[in-house]
Amino acid sequence: MNREADVSETSVVEAVAKELFVGGKWVPATGGRTFAVEDPATGEVLCEVADATPQDGRAALDAAVAAQADWARTAPRERSEILRRAYELLLARTDELGLLMTLEMGKPLAEAKGEIAYAAEFFRWFSEEAVRIDGGYQVAPNGAGRFLVTKQPVGPTLLITPWNFPMAMGGRKIGPAIAAGCTMVIKPAEQTPLSMLALAAILAEAGLPAGVLNVVTTTDPGGVMEPLIRDGRARKLSFTGSTAVGKKLLEQCADKVLRTSMELGGNAPFLVFDDADLDAAVDGAMQAKMRNIGEACTAANRFYVQRGVADEFARRLTERMAALPMGRGTETGVVVGPLIDSDAVRKVTELVGDATERGAQVLTGGAAVDGPGNFYQATVLTGVPRDARMASEEIFGPVAPITVFDTEDEAVAAANDTEYGLVSYVFTNDLKRALRVSENLEAGMIGLNQGIVSNPAAPFGGVKQSGLGREGGGVGIDEFLEIKYVAVAL
Ligand code: NAP
Repeated sequence: MNREADVSETSVVEAVAKELFVGGKWVPATGGRTFAVEDPATGEVLCEVADATPQDGRAALDAAVAAQADWARTAPRERSEILRRAYELLLARTDELGLLMTLEMGKPLAEAKGEIAYAAEFFRWFSEEAVRIDGGYQVAPNGAGRFLVTKQPVGPTLLITPWNFPMAMGGRKIGPAIAAGCTMVIKPAEQTPLSMLALAAILAEAGLPAGVLNVVTTTDPGGVMEPLIRDGRARKLSFTGSTAVGKKLLEQCADKVLRTSMELGGNAPFLVFDDADLDAAVDGAMQAKMRNIGEACTAANRFYVQRGVADEFARRLTERMAALPMGRGTETGVVVGPLIDSDAVRKVTELVGDATERGAQVLTGGAAVDGPGNFYQATVLTGVPRDARMASEEIFGPVAPITVFDTEDEAVAAANDTEYGLVSYVFTNDLKRALRVSENLEAGMIGLNQGIVSNPAAPFGGVKQSGLGREGGGVGIDEFLEIKYVAVAL
């Protein structure tokens, strides 16, 4: 896509290459197979993209394997400069890339542009990390020998990303893989392949050598990826998606003992204590709940509010949620875009139905909107019992369920009563409580008096069934590096 390009819906879709990117070339899928990409706001087909077969997947892995040795030898400074150029190109094309993302995924344009900036930041961050890979030299305890410790790229890696952040989830993996010197096969989500195809073109333009990044789009994710996981030449899988699929992939990875990074589902609790700044808590709640229309692994899924402020918090949150404009993400001012597909609307409808049957009251919203498009109203529920399905399942939609608590211990126990542990939000002005609760919450990340935690310079990831490993921060590159120790006899 050119910077000067006309930023119209048609032009941004037309500008994307719709084929597989293998060994530095755009190639059709075997048999010329394609699948349709739809606009979730209208249900209309945007375009067709190549539908890879297992044979195409194998060709992509062959290309990644062939490129690995040269790429590992490439100077860190050169890898760094490619990443830096990618960062600049992404920012220069924010308008086009943002619109493309809104069309395929539905999120409001302002959020889509925000995601381009967020994704770009991973490239800048890892351009800085590429030249800081360290090692060590140590005297052995017996004084006779020396230990040389060095870090080397893991090798060819497989990357699988979800539809909810079509550019950022790729950037968070591709950035460190490039910085570390790994080659890749990436499979974006079927519903949002266009952002990844656009990113591949940008990386090629930034100077990434042929074969380092290979992209396969497919309607057969298991059929294409499982043979690559079991092949043994790829040495790592980095996956972002649901816990259910992640578990299946972990089993497959065991076969050849692949390194894994797993960024899986969440069920974030959002705790508001009586002593919190209520304005900040409501602002934070809006961010934690409504970012990405609630379709985020970090989305606040359960609001636990202390009795003294519960009614006021619910009133203010309801007022804000009820005022949110709904519509196609391309329309100015829209906050509540469409959900990704009709299954998502069905699931949210079911979860809200279950909660109300168990006694929850609807303060605003509470219903799907007639088509076209996959819309669900911004919703606040109160009196949601702990046994409601939404207390243990990801809602992945614009629904805020509130449950009242009395004591800190009760709140922490409720927050931890889940198999997930990605992020928790805590609002309190009591420093001791803030630190105590942050320590006691079982989560990889805590939003303390803030509703957003994602930052490329911070280690993102979860505990329990929310995943393994961290992306971003000072440790993000380590996911793509192996440690080698050389025992030196003097
Ligand atoms: P998903 O169904 O698990 O899909 C994620 C990716 O895995 C997609 O590319 C999908 O391809 C692919 N996939 C599905 N089955 C596969 C298989 N058998 N073998 C190989 N790949 C397979 O998840 P999703 O619905 O796209 O994304 C939502 C989930 O992601 C939520 O649970 C959310 O919490 C989680 N998430 C986590 C993070 C995090 O950082 N922790 C970030 C974002 C999202 P298809 O598109 O073709 O199905």
